Amino acid sequence: MKKTVCLAAIFSLSLALVTNAEIRTWTATDGRTIKAELVGVSEDGEIVTFQRTDGKQGPFSVEKLSKADQEYIKQKKREEEERLAQEQKKREEAAKQSEANRFAQEQKKREEAARIAQEQKEEDRQRVERLAPAFAQRIKEQLKEQQEREQQAKVEQEQERARQEQEQKQRQWEEDSQKALIVGAVVGGVALIILLVWAVSRQSSKCPLCKKAWGKQIINTLLIDSRLETRGSFDTVYHYNSKGEVTGSTTIPTTKIVTVKTYENECRCKHCGYEWSYTHTTET
Ligand SMILES: [Zn+2]
Repeated sequence: MKKTVCLAAIFSLSLALVTNAEIRTWTATDGRTIKAELVGVSEDGEIVTFQRTDGKQGPFSVEKLSKADQEYIKQKKREEEERLAQEQKKREEAAKQSEANRFAQEQKKREEAARIAQEQKEEDRQRVERLAPAFAQRIKEQLKEQQEREQQAKVEQEQERARQEQEQKQRQWEEDSQKALIVGAVVGGVALIILLVWAVSRQSSKCPLCKKAWGKQIINTLLIDSRLETRGSFDTVYHYNSKGEVTGSTTIPTTKIVTVKTYENECRCKHCGYEWSYTHTTET
């Protein structure tokens, strides 16, 4: 098991040593020599791999070689390790550099993105600045329009109110006129009646001799006749149903008795003193 690991280690090293390989004559501690190429050294440096001139490879114990050969192997191993360390360092540096480049690139990308964002922001700001006056103008116009509409509505309201007031006045006037007309008609009617009564009285109070109005003075009234008379008349008989409503009527001819009185009025004129008389009858 341990030998397998060792061989693996040797093999790994042998590959690395191929580049600066050279065929050399090695001397063993017992004085024998071998012509071979060193192709690998184990990690602990105790076993080497030789490749003989015939191409065959095989392990060889380092302690069985001369001091000079051992020194040579140590030297080769050191050189190889240094070379590997150098390569490792180079790889690490390269990785570092690549990482740095990657970081720088990302940084650049971030800066670019930030720049674009800033530009966008600026553009937006400028657009807002450009649009702001127009926007303000529009708002102003809208406000003005609204004010005008309100003003218009106010005027219309005022007109409507005035119109209603006018109508109210008109109605009031009509009502007043109607009332005045009624009052006038009543007053006129009454006046007419008074006038008629006055005219009739005036006519009936005229003196037959001097013809002056308001001359008649009744100085005596005598009952000269009183008798009973029959008068033709009509009685109306109404018909009712069970609910007490009138359903019709019948007119029946009938007679009634009245008292007829005849008076004689003796008169004298206030103006000329002329005396006269006349008769008149009453029925009760
Ligand atoms: Zn007279």
